[in-house]
Amino acid sequence: MTPFPAHLSDRYRRFKHRHFIPHMEEYEELAAYGQSPDVMIVSCCDSRVDPETIFSAMPGELFVMRNVANLIPPFETSGTYHGVSAAIEFAVLNLRVKHLVIMGHSGCGGVKAALDREAVRETRGQFITKWMSMLEAARLAVLASHQGAARKDMAMALEKEGIKTSLKNLRTFPFLTELENNGRIALHGAYFDIATGQLSALNETTGKFYPL
Ligand SMILES: [Zn+2]
Repeated sequence: MTPFPAHLSDRYRRFKHRHFIPHMEEYEELAAYGQSPDVMIVSCCDSRVDPETIFSAMPGELFVMRNVANLIPPFETSGTYHGVSAAIEFAVLNLRVKHLVIMGHSGCGGVKAALDREAVRETRGQFITKWMSMLEAARLAVLASHQGAARKDMAMALEKEGIKTSLKNLRTFPFLTELENNGRIALHGAYFDIATGQLSALNETTGKFYPL
């Protein structure tokens, strides 16, 4: 049997002593009464963009879903497996979260893969290209509006455009649109710059991000 990685066991014991034990009563309450977070965050799998850290959250406060490039596929009901849609459905209809935040970030590998689509198709596996094809319309729009721009500026534009695409796709879920129209849930876009630690929020009226 392969032993469990020692550095993870060490980190876990540190968590148990420094975090869990001092907050034991809160954990007992969460276990007894269940979770009732009022915010859902959709963020990237990227190890540098951790929602709980960025929002100083305690267990029970944020319902988090992470996937490559924080994308929401459009609503569809084909018979395949829909992990993203299941998480949204659970958060919105069962937990009744009041805010749903799509959080993108700088230096996103998934977005870079979308931008370098042709190169990726040849070198990577079968899943990323298909997943990132959700950003095809956004990619074409960014390429058209950033002709001659530096690659990193294009990547940043597509990272931000991807957040808008996910918000647009969220609004293809009938139950979400209904709740948003009734004012029972608010959808938000946010962008985290890893190097500066700056979090910005999307103003959907102007289409621009403003620093928080
Ligand atoms: Zn990413």
